[in-house]
Amino acid sequence: MKRKKTLNLKDIIDILAETDIKTVPDLNHDGDDCYGLAEYDARLVSLQEGMSIQQRKYVLIHELFHMSDYLRGFDTDEEDTDERTNNLYRKLYGCDFEMM
Ligand SMILES: [Zn+2]
Repeated sequence: MKRKKTLNLKDIIDILAETDIKTVPDLNHDGDDCYGLAEYDARLVSLQEGMSIQQRKYVLIHELFHMSDYLRGFDTDEEDTDERTNNLYRKLYGCDFEMM
């Protein structure tokens, strides 16, 4: 299998069928604040409470790429994940995302 360059609707349904999404206050990873977190063993994606809808969409795409890579046996690559997230966000919404 190859790392997915983008995610189509079937890819997303396949990921969501194995993944729970939850919103949590004070989300952090090893003590560092973060907007989103994919916990692979738990098949869980957490989103920081209080983000705008645009932020949630962007962070969700990012974490779904992480989960897709994990489910397909790939290690996390943050730079590559950011690039794919930016590309898919732009494709879906017609503009670049800017995290405020
Ligand atoms: Zn990431």
